[in-house]
Amino acid sequence: MRNLLPATEENIRLAASVIREGGLVAFPTETVYGLGADALNPRAVAKIYEAKGRPRFDPLIVHVASREEVLRLVEEVPEEARILMERFWPGPLTLVLPRRDTVPPITTAGLPTVAVRMPAHPVALKLIRYSGVPIAAPSANPFGYVSPTTARQVAETLGDRVDVILDAGRTRIGVESTIVMLTEGKAYLLRPGGLPVEEIERAIGKEVRPYSGGEVLSPGTLKRHYSPRTRLVILKSWEDYYRLRGRYRRVLLLLPSPAYGVEGEVRFLSESGDLGEVAANLFSILYEADRSGYDVIAVMPVPEEGLGRAIMNRLRKAAAR
Ligand code: AMP
Ligand code: MG
Repeated sequence: MRNLLPATEENIRLAASVIREGGLVAFPTETVYGLGADALNPRAVAKIYEAKGRPRFDPLIVHVASREEVLRLVEEVPEEARILMERFWPGPLTLVLPRRDTVPPITTAGLPTVAVRMPAHPVALKLIRYSGVPIAAPSANPFGYVSPTTARQVAETLGDRVDVILDAGRTRIGVESTIVMLTEGKAYLLRPGGLPVEEIERAIGKEVRPYSGGEVLSPGTLKRHYSPRTRLVILKSWEDYYRLRGRYRRVLLLLPSPAYGVEGEVRFLSESGDLGEVAANLFSILYEADRSGYDVIAVMPVPEEGLGRAIMNRLRKAAAR
């Protein structure tokens, strides 16, 4: 894996030159690893879709290193977007705003809007700054598969389809950004993520509604996504678990917090029951479990509040058949 490099100053500069020349760089953010290219270069962006096997109708998030940079990309920044950017950037919040013509259609899958985010990771911010361009980046995994929270996972699944993979260890948050669309004075939740929607509502003093426009406008809302190859089942009860154990030979049970006296192979998604910890561990535990030859992975749900929404959203899609 010659392309897997520690995220040193020198290697970030090298990666930035790869971006400028229209190549692909996988890099850490606080949420998951991203697969980046120059967002304003259509040929570079096309390589992202190709490397991931991502359908062209699925728009990309454009990453910036400052709030001001957004002005080059969008027609207008509504007052509420300004408040949210002030309050939560850099951080795991993506805003969908009216696109300017500077952003090529391939980046936004032909939509009249563009999704923008300023990531809270020093390596990501440096990479964008040194490149001198905004960076379009979806998660650095084959389309539909578990998102990567380590550079090794990127190397193992995308390999030499990426020019450079910058390694800065495991990502802190572990689930993707929360995506909010602001339009005509209303706020819509397109995807729950690393920033709890309750905090967004508090900041703008209004409800963030679930978006019902369907999969056309936000393909990230596809029903099946983030999926291991191994069958994943969300348990409704302990009986479900024992039924699976009767039916399959090797069952892995994932529990949100430590429990004792449970029969079978068990892994805890957190040591303390903290949802932040569950989110941070979720994808890498699914990734490892997927490579360990289980017949089925069973998981106990978490409460659907705060980060629990993002966790359950990922689990449901991962479990969808
Ligand atoms: P990923 O980069 O893999 O986390 O996915 C990005 C997701 O952001 C897409 O699948 C869409 O759901 C969403 N997205 C990106 N751009 C837009 C946009 N212009 N309008 C609505 N949703 C968007
Ligand atoms: Mg993704």
